[in-house]
Amino acid sequence: MNWFEKMKSGFKTGRKREIPAGIWSKCPQCSFSTYQQALERAHWICSECSFHYPVGHQYYVQLLTDEGTFTPLDDSLTAADPLRFRDTKRYTDRIRDGKKASELNEAVCTGIGRLGGEPLALGVMDTRFILGSLGSATGEKISRLIDRALAERSGLVLVCQSGGARMMESAYSLMQMAKISAKLHRLALARLPYIAVLTDPTYGGVTASFAMLGDVILAEPGARIGFAGPEVIKQFLKVESLPEGFQRSETVLKHGFIDHIVRRDELPAALGRLLAMLRAPEAL
Ligand SMILES: [Zn+2]
Repeated sequence: MNWFEKMKSGFKTGRKREIPAGIWSKCPQCSFSTYQQALERAHWICSECSFHYPVGHQYYVQLLTDEGTFTPLDDSLTAADPLRFRDTKRYTDRIRDGKKASELNEAVCTGIGRLGGEPLALGVMDTRFILGSLGSATGEKISRLIDRALAERSGLVLVCQSGGARMMESAYSLMQMAKISAKLHRLALARLPYIAVLTDPTYGGVTASFAMLGDVILAEPGARIGFAGPEVIKQFLKVESLPEGFQRSETVLKHGFIDHIVRRDELPAALGRLLAMLRAPEAL
């Protein structure tokens, strides 16, 4: 077959060259491919554009606690299905799938440990469990974590990552916002610091409650932070598109929504400094 016939019949390039899964990762933002081991060493941050790859709760727990100091709390606590809710799928099936995907029994992992030697109560949400939604057991775990921070007089850090309140639990979910907010008030009265770390995405009932109640509110670069999501806002405003950077941490920082943007690899040092600085002197 000469080149002209090849053109007519269409070039055949043999099997498409594919990057073997699990060895290389292609950045969703700039398409730069990185060897996975190198990405791991770089805390899953793209070396070209600083895109922060999503990481699970296990990663943050390891990153934000001194080695061997973390003890999980209430890890068997799980959601009930009081409304026997079903949409396109049964709620109980969603819970089962969430457990499998996240290796958690609820959308948050809580526990106590130390960071830079400072005592710390740490909660990390995980979007692999029903989009990190705030259910009654999620709220209960966070509330118990705050009780523990109060009992041990330790600082509190919540790594937020959520699509919002869990609609399958209706009002049972919504009341968690008030419950956690009331517990945080007790923490404030006890002069114990609470630092919120907002990661991608932080939305809905989580934004409308504890994500915005930190004494200091930090966010990872490029994280989506808002109440209603961009699609809902577009429909409501009847517009085709939204401004560039809409609801990203860089934009919400400019509007005073958060205090500071911190890269993931700089989080342990930043949190360690804040916890030491904000700790109330015991004598007072
Ligand atoms: Zn990139």
